Amino acid sequence: MASHSPVAERRKKQLNLSMSEVIPFALCHVIVLAAFYTGVTWQAWALCVGLLVLRMWGVTAGYHRYFAHRTYKTSRVFQFILAFIAQSSAQKGALWWAAHHRNHHKLSDQEGDLHSPVLDGFWYSHMGWLFDDTAGTDYSRIQDFAKYPELVWLNKYFLVPPVLLGVVCSLVAGWPGLIVGFFLSTVLCWHITFLVNSLAHVAGKRRFETTDQSRNNWLIAILTLGEGWHNNHHHYQSSTRQGFYWWEVDVTYYVLKALSWVGIVWDLREPPARVLAEGRAIDAAKKAARKAARRGEAADAVDAGELEPVASIG
Ligand SMILES: [Zn+2]
Ligand SMILES: [Zn+2]
Repeated sequence: MASHSPVAERRKKQLNLSMSEVIPFALCHVIVLAAFYTGVTWQAWALCVGLLVLRMWGVTAGYHRYFAHRTYKTSRVFQFILAFIAQSSAQKGALWWAAHHRNHHKLSDQEGDLHSPVLDGFWYSHMGWLFDDTAGTDYSRIQDFAKYPELVWLNKYFLVPPVLLGVVCSLVAGWPGLIVGFFLSTVLCWHITFLVNSLAHVAGKRRFETTDQSRNNWLIAILTLGEGWHNNHHHYQSSTRQGFYWWEVDVTYYVLKALSWVGIVWDLREPPARVLAEGRAIDAAKKAARKAARRGEAADAVDAGELEPVASIG
């Protein structure tokens, strides 16, 4: 009899991919190759890098830390601007994004999680789930923002911001502006964002014993402007700040902090002192354990005659 593990069930579902969504997604990748015909200008590269950073910030400060988790407050006007910047990354509506992300936190790495690399493998959690019956927005999960008609409108016409941005890029820098400034930047922003769903539940260090497999990964944190401190985030998701300590670089938070100084955003939430102390204690205990293990190995090596004993001090 065939086994019916959650993985096997989900792998069968993968065949349900919606081609009307897969094809435009694939074409956005292929169109980047047109750069070999159009050539690339320095203006196009500047747009590519600038828009990658701006939209990455929109994804993390907007979609994630504001709409999905409500970790800080802002005005109705800036809330719309946040949704607009985030949506210019072509990751669908802010309400769509946040509603799906709330599902991830509710069921992380358990049956029903929309993108768990632990259950469904790397590629499914990276992007397969996007095309697997996930096109609609469950407004019951996002009632707090669904009361704003302008956000519901933007969520419905989610392609308005990226299309406008594409037009601006071509007006500013011609075909290279569209191909490299817009499309290459968009594709890079997609895959860097998706790494949080795929790699940040597999590769990296687990400080906190959360019920999921979330990890802290410094490389993903640099690339995503702070989202790589994903184990911290799963442990205490209502904090605006995801890099809990000074050495955990969190650019999104720094920018939000600066915006709070001029009154554009406010009530940024910090990790509480008890959570920070708990994290420090765990780090110290792990460091001590590693040191003890090294000492043990050295002692074993001396016993086995592989190393000369080191003269003791004092
Ligand atoms: Zn989250
Ligand atoms: Zn996660």
